[in-house]
Amino acid sequence: MQTTTLNNGIEMPVLGFGVFQLDAEQTERAVSDALEAGYRSIDTASGYRNEEAVGRAIRNSGLSRGELFITTKLYVQNAGEENTKRAFEASTERLGLNYLDLYLIHQPFGDYYSEWRAMQDLHKEGRIRAIGVSNFPADRLIDLVVNNEITPAVNQVETHPFRQNCDYHELMCAEGVQMESWAPFAQGKNNLFGNPTLTALAEAHGRSVAQVVLRWMIQRGVVVIPKTVRRDRMAENLDVFDFSLTDDDMKRIAGLEVGSSQFFDHADTDVVRQLSALRFD
Ligand code: NDP
Repeated sequence: MQTTTLNNGIEMPVLGFGVFQLDAEQTERAVSDALEAGYRSIDTASGYRNEEAVGRAIRNSGLSRGELFITTKLYVQNAGEENTKRAFEASTERLGLNYLDLYLIHQPFGDYYSEWRAMQDLHKEGRIRAIGVSNFPADRLIDLVVNNEITPAVNQVETHPFRQNCDYHELMCAEGVQMESWAPFAQGKNNLFGNPTLTALAEAHGRSVAQVVLRWMIQRGVVVIPKTVRRDRMAENLDVFDFSLTDDDMKRIAGLEVGSSQFFDHADTDVVRQLSALRFD
């Protein structure tokens, strides 16, 4: 598996497997199948309520811990470094792991400064190999970078052909922050799988739309974590390392940007209230 080197020297697979919106039973089966298909990086979150199922699939895989790259996410905590450390222990216990490869602050809300300080401590203690954030807009990311000791290794943000984050990606690269795409297929919204430009490129390369989309992001230097419950699609989504898109192909996909989210805007005050009202340990 091709990897990218994070800002602290850790190697992260450029393609992993996401488990958002899967219940425990689906998660255990999907992660088992994904590991068998060759995925080595798994992306979950305390908020997905499926960390235990991910842990069971890992244990049943027979793979050694060192072969895997496991990410989970800290949800908004009620103030304090102590609660962050407690949430970290709860996540690792559910996963059955004694360290994480990547731990992300899931949302840019709440007392994330104290969360970040606790994560810096856990990183220094060797409990987390790399720490990062998710859904952080540019201003909050830079604020965190300039006012803390450790620069986030990763920022996981909504990124797909309709929301490409090109300028933001340049900024992250300049700051040494790896951009990771969530919802690389926009969950199929806006007819992504039937998009005429993507379909034409897929036909031209003898590939699927999904493969073109993943290849386009990997060529841009963006980490991807597609989700599927189907074994055939797991194999398809993994099979993107033996073809290349041309500069012209990349420009055609660049033209698909619509300039807004396919889901919700983290700067929308109602979204801030809704996501801040939730709690997961
Ligand atoms: P994706 O963009 O990965 O889309 C998943 C959808 O695409 C599913 O309906 C799946 O269907 C379908 N699909 C997958 N592969 C193919 C294929 N080859 N051909 C056709 N259809 C396909 O959505 P996600 O929201 O799951 O995003 C991926 C991951 O990103 C999540 O699982 C999660 O880990 C992370 N994420 C993080 C967020 C954050 O706030 N940090 C927010 C959202 C996601 P089927 O399963 O039936 O194959």
